[in-house]
Amino acid sequence: MPPLQTRSIWVALDTAGCPNRCRHCWLGVSPNRRMCEDDIRRVVELFRGWVKLGEQNPFFERVNALTWYREPDYHPNYREMHTLEEEINGEPPRRFDLLSIWRLAHDPTYASWARKVGTEACQISFFGTQKTNDWFFRRSGAFQDSIVATDRLLEAGIRPRWQLFFTSLIVPELPELLELVGRMRLRERTEAIGGEFDLFLRTPTPDGEAWNIEDLRPTAKDLVQVPSELRESSEHYLGGPIGEAEGAIISRVLDDDPVFPSAYELPEELCFYVTSSFDVFSNIGELAPWWKLGNLEQDDISRIIDVLENNRVLGLHANYNISAAELAWHYGRRDGEHIYDPGDLPIRWVRMWCQSTFPQRRVEELDSALPDGGTMLECWPAHRSPRPRATIGGKLRSKPPQSNRH
Ligand code: SF4
Repeated sequence: MPPLQTRSIWVALDTAGCPNRCRHCWLGVSPNRRMCEDDIRRVVELFRGWVKLGEQNPFFERVNALTWYREPDYHPNYREMHTLEEEINGEPPRRFDLLSIWRLAHDPTYASWARKVGTEACQISFFGTQKTNDWFFRRSGAFQDSIVATDRLLEAGIRPRWQLFFTSLIVPELPELLELVGRMRLRERTEAIGGEFDLFLRTPTPDGEAWNIEDLRPTAKDLVQVPSELRESSEHYLGGPIGEAEGAIISRVLDDDPVFPSAYELPEELCFYVTSSFDVFSNIGELAPWWKLGNLEQDDISRIIDVLENNRVLGLHANYNISAAELAWHYGRRDGEHIYDPGDLPIRWVRMWCQSTFPQRRVEELDSALPDGGTMLECWPAHRSPRPRATIGGKLRSKPPQSNRH
């Protein structure tokens, strides 16, 4: 990736975990552990104190802390955590239209507190009706919690937004979910508190846990069964089609000029995720081993940032050195009928390349074997060489400090 330009970053810590283990979760399924206030302060200070080689002063002028990156406010002392974030950051914490659905359902005082601290909208995810939904969450009662949570949001004056994940399992259950929206009068009740009820269907991004449910990815045949009102509201919310068949996307990608990054865009706001074991990742990529930048208990912060800036992990290496066209040529299914957001397909291919490469080879070995910094893939068509070097560009997928893919 290009050398760090931004002097403002986020550091998000997994201080309490999550009550769910969603089968689409890009953050994976790590254990729930607690991090204490001292851990949070220490990690933030490490980033705040980093001085880049050749410079005199700390590089980052602003380091904002987030005391969660899985379920927000799942920490039993969530109010104290909120106060702590405000103190560390010197401004009110951002909410990203996300709250703890579990807490909304189980703590009757939570919704009004969330409204008081400035939450105006909250997204809730569904995968189907009760049985299907709870299977996706890997927690019985999750569907019912989401219904109670929706009611409590409205009572507190917070706009609910329903995100439906499009898999082959939800298709026959869509009419029942739409009926539920009508029965709960969600449009009317949201209007009554001064807003619009957003309802949309989206495909899971093929990384994290969602990698394991690729067999449930819908096809064009499923897409035609989506009720027109939902299709329209989804296209309105997403700003374009819900998705396209892989084969159709590939035919375009193969003709594309090489542009880097190939899969994960350079985020507008760079965020470092720190797990409860102090492993560090960034919001370029997913929380898989081939994206891990280091560990704060074992590695110097300079080393961790060097790994990021110089693509010293396989995920970054692929993202900045192998074009989407090249990946498509090797991994794409030209007759693929499954539906993807066009920006998600390179993510799938980068993951395939990383999985097939990790942990047999390290980036250094790959680089030294290929003096032009070139491809690890064999049989790339000759007319495509010489391979381009990484440049800044591309506009495929970007994650904010907190992703609404919850
Ligand atoms: S998607 Fe959100 S709620 Fe589900 S497991 Fe991941 S962090 Fe938890």
